[in-house]
Amino acid sequence: MSPVYFDHNATTPLDESVLQAMLPFFREHYGNASSRHEFGRAARQAVDDAREQVADAVGAHPSQVYFVSGGTEANNLLIKGVAARLKPSQVAVSAVEHPSVTVPVQELREHGWKVRRLAVDHAGRIDMDEAKSALREPTGLMSVMLANNETGVIQDVASLAELARSAGALVHTDAVQALGKMPVNFATLNVHAMTLSAHKIYGPKGMGALILDKRLDIKPQITGGGHEKGLRAGTENVPAIVGFGAACMLASDRLAQSSFNLEQMRGRMNQGLRTMGAILFGDGAERLPNTSYFALPGIEGETLVMALDRAGYAVASGSACSSGGADPSPVLLSMGVERELARCAVRVSLGRGNEMSQIERFLQALQDEIFRLKKLAAIAV
Ligand code: PLP
Repeated sequence: MSPVYFDHNATTPLDESVLQAMLPFFREHYGNASSRHEFGRAARQAVDDAREQVADAVGAHPSQVYFVSGGTEANNLLIKGVAARLKPSQVAVSAVEHPSVTVPVQELREHGWKVRRLAVDHAGRIDMDEAKSALREPTGLMSVMLANNETGVIQDVASLAELARSAGALVHTDAVQALGKMPVNFATLNVHAMTLSAHKIYGPKGMGALILDKRLDIKPQITGGGHEKGLRAGTENVPAIVGFGAACMLASDRLAQSSFNLEQMRGRMNQGLRTMGAILFGDGAERLPNTSYFALPGIEGETLVMALDRAGYAVASGSACSSGGADPSPVLLSMGVERELARCAVRVSLGRGNEMSQIERFLQALQDEIFRLKKLAAIAV
């Protein structure tokens, strides 16, 4: 039997229709979007169309969409680009941000910025009182993710943005994990900037966008030709941009149905996990419909991930970006989870290709693996 993919928060497979939309731009329409001839015009038209599709998916205007190489670049561009235009003050970020936010934010210290980490509660939600107290200090930028990659926990970004705006701070949200799994609207969230990535929504890797408030002036980080209105130089990756646009359209069209299906499967998954004695992280908070993050006390997450891999199931321990490292997840530690238990964390993230029968088989396989690992542990003692 072919392995079952349960790691959609790490990346998603390219949708067949997205691939079909991209192929002509590798073959016949290979022009440079900056060229004046017919080949160039065809590429430019495709980029413009994709810009509209991305804008539509998040309720923004096409002129607010800047194509970049992915979520990591969008986060770096925004953080470093904003900081370069402001007098150093405080930058406030939640304790559960992705490394593509936390690392550039730490780098701002070298330029005189103070970093304020906003604590989260046991379920992974940003503490509003903590945000209010942080904003009493002069703050240039607040960056809070819309949905977390590990727990799937959704933050009340609109309320945080209101607080930040009234304190005179700019607000950015990393919506990489939220897009395609819940409604995302740039205007309603009331932020100045938003990060998106194509490969989390069945689009190509190495493609993303920064959505910017029209009045926001940020310093480009890659300079050269005047691409993307001078904000991001480099010949446009036309096939990937086209794929991103197509994936955004699909995400919007399928959102309601896919959220319903995912929620049903995740519900069954969590029910099965609870009967096995699993502890579910982020339980009780509003969460993405596809993510289940749990620990079976006494069984190392890495060990279980490898055992499940052998049994034909692809799941993750901690976040995909830091997997390979033995350290427990900083996200879980910031939620107050004990180090020992955090080491047992396993993430299942479902997606479009999954079916209920796979959940049932997975639960059986997990039960078998737990039995086997416990037996091995008993022999070893
Ligand atoms: N932000 C979040 C919340 C993510 O989960 C990821 C990817 O794992 C990124 C940013 C980085 O996006 P990309 O892989 O497109 O660089």
